[in-house]
Amino acid sequence: QAKHEGRNGFRLFNSSLTQNAHERLTLESRLRQALQADELEPFFQPQINTSTGEIEGFEALARWITPEDGLISPGRFIPLAENSGLIETLDLQIMRKAMKHFVHWRKQGLQPGILSVNLNVRHFQNPHLLQVLDHMIADTGFRHQWLEVEVTETQLMSKPEQAIQVLSKLHEAGIRIALDDFGTGYSSLSYLKRLPITKLKIDQSFVRDLPGDQEDASIVKAVIALAKSLGLEVLAEGTETEAQINFLAQNQCDRVQGYFYARPMPAGEALDYLTPDQARA
Ligand code: C2E
Ligand code: MG
Ligand code: MG
Ligand code: MG
Repeated sequence: QAKHEGRNGFRLFNSSLTQNAHERLTLESRLRQALQADELEPFFQPQINTSTGEIEGFEALARWITPEDGLISPGRFIPLAENSGLIETLDLQIMRKAMKHFVHWRKQGLQPGILSVNLNVRHFQNPHLLQVLDHMIADTGFRHQWLEVEVTETQLMSKPEQAIQVLSKLHEAGIRIALDDFGTGYSSLSYLKRLPITKLKIDQSFVRDLPGDQEDASIVKAVIALAKSLGLEVLAEGTETEAQINFLAQNQCDRVQGYFYARPMPAGEALDYLTPDQARA
């Protein structure tokens, strides 16, 4: 009897497990095909300097648009790409397409500023990473000085010594480095000092309940002070309200990125933010 239940239980468990694994595999093979067919697109979200009113640049965020399911969000496919060896291809595909848009905009006399791209830490294992970037930059007519790579704090601190080595090379080549989702990982201050970072991006979880939440307010003020004392730019992610932006501006964080100004959008819409008067370039 017990044996029977056990087996039954096992079968139930097993079949739902199989279904999950099956779904994942299906999605994974579809993602692989989508990458082969070059079907992922960058969306662009402006980064604003509230004290000058200028767009300083755009972050490129991957979007997967399928005929079957419409738009699939990074929350679903980035972890999948990370676990199946597809993330490097994905990052480079988004980066190349985003660079092409930037070069195209510049040729029209527009000033899109800095392009920020998300770079998974797995790229750091590639000893030729800088050559890969050099080649892409030359190929698309882009410039090193227009590029900023965003690495999450958690990923970066998983292998800090390797990160210092790789990022130093990129930095020497003129590429900017942003520490993404700052506050959610465990940075040691001694590494922060040694890393060639140019910007801290305060994670949106600390911004969400501003200005009311006293703890978040204290944390955000402390991070701003830390960034300033290390000579780093600081940007608040996920700014959705004017009250948040006012609080940030009052506390000397004048770079923001969030729905209050604009959501991530396709290149064609981002272009509207670059008409000369809106960009104030
Ligand atoms: P992230 O790099 O921290 O990007 C910011 C995320 O916050 C984006 O989510 C963006 O759409 C969202 N966001 C921006 N403003 C607001 C706001 O005001 N409120 C709220 N609630 N959210 C806001 P998204 O596009 O879904 O991307 C999620 C994460 O996926 C990114 O977080 C990044 O870690 C990863 N990702 C996206 N594209 C790429 C890529 O091409 N390569 C890699 N390696 N990772 C990527
Ligand atoms: Mg990012
Ligand atoms: Mg972030
Ligand atoms: Mg994030």
